[in-house]
Amino acid sequence: MALADSLSRRPRSHAAFERAQQLMPGGVNSPARAFGAVGGTPIFIERAEGAYLYDIDGDRYVDYIGSWGPMILGHRHPAVVAALEAALSRGTSYGAPTEAESELAERIIDAVASIEKVRLVSSGTEATMSAVRLARGFTGRDVIIKFAGNYHGHVDSLLVAAGSSAATLGTPNSPGVTVGTTKDTLVLDYNDVQSLEDAFARHGDKIAGVILEPVVGNMGVVVPSQAFVSALNRLTKSHGALLICDEVMTGFRVAFGGAQQLLGLEPDITTLGKIVGGGLPVGAYGGRAEVMNHILPAGKVFQAGTLSGNPLATAAGNATLKILKEQPPYDRLEHLTARLEAGLHAAAEKAGIIHTIARVGSMVTLFFSGEGITSWQAASRCNTEQFARFFWGMMNRGVYLPCSQYEALFISAAHTEDDIDRTIAASEEVMQEMS
Ligand code: PLP
Repeated sequence: MALADSLSRRPRSHAAFERAQQLMPGGVNSPARAFGAVGGTPIFIERAEGAYLYDIDGDRYVDYIGSWGPMILGHRHPAVVAALEAALSRGTSYGAPTEAESELAERIIDAVASIEKVRLVSSGTEATMSAVRLARGFTGRDVIIKFAGNYHGHVDSLLVAAGSSAATLGTPNSPGVTVGTTKDTLVLDYNDVQSLEDAFARHGDKIAGVILEPVVGNMGVVVPSQAFVSALNRLTKSHGALLICDEVMTGFRVAFGGAQQLLGLEPDITTLGKIVGGGLPVGAYGGRAEVMNHILPAGKVFQAGTLSGNPLATAAGNATLKILKEQPPYDRLEHLTARLEAGLHAAAEKAGIIHTIARVGSMVTLFFSGEGITSWQAASRCNTEQFARFFWGMMNRGVYLPCSQYEALFISAAHTEDDIDRTIAASEEVMQEMS
């Protein structure tokens, strides 16, 4: 039903997808864009402005993906556009240092309490890959703990999500990722304090670091318990392992200082991406100077990048972080997202649809499940068929949601109460249809 619906409504996107599939694997350059989890044809975008996306069939959508997180100010914010135009007039890449890189580093260090020094890279994946290498280089140990359902980009050694409630030594879940590459990755369940204690008791002197999403976005929004946060701080410190907060999604999103500021996490290394590039490709990893000075050329841990600190990307990042500091949108985002959360909840209640909503600041997920979602095991029991119906119903009413149950919706400073209220009204219609 969803497929037929999308063909008749969006003939141009359909033709564009047919063509793209001949040219690129699955027709896309990043898998989620192919709508695999919900079926049907992705819309092809012509342009974006503020809180809206416009597709090539001439339809407008309220955008709740925001390029999967970066567009916290909305699309084409005038200050970001002006900064990009100014940077463009001076050249696009030099392969040599610029003052704009120091400005972006300063802005990050100023915002994130645990960062004393930072290295700019070009994606979140590069940031987490480099952070893991640094943790191993710094400690001289091999094992990295990650949590099932947490995504850290497509780093081979972190592309492991398998795991039951018991700790499982890494099993690769993509062909091409070798058992050898993941043998030093230990996968535990999120929020499972006991298995973390056990892992440190058994392997403590081999553990280089623990990496986590401090608020998970990649199995839908999942919040860590205070006991889990305390155990992470305590166990990493007492065993000389590094705590790596992957704030690629949450950095500058859930608070100016990231999720670590909200939750009291005390990371040794923080990874950033998305918002720090203001919609252009930037990632970053930073931490205590003592740790960061192990990176080449200050130290011996190798990491490099032809386009790292690219002038266009740093211009967009600087403009974005400047606004976030000088005109913080966080109270407004909280207000708008709470309004959306309440409206979705009421719509689902009225239609008698079993659901749970999780939200931190401007990240929110409507789970089609009645249980509280604290781990991947619970998340994996959601009704994904219901989600797909909801997704297409909303899409056909001009609301562009993340195309998977296991993602967060992002609200931007460009969204208005009217956008939120129209979204809630659409959700009421869709849920009535579904019930
Ligand atoms: N870490 C987290 C928490 C992410 O959400 C993502 C991407 O969504 C990444 C790392 C990878 O970032 P990128 O897609 O820029 O490589």
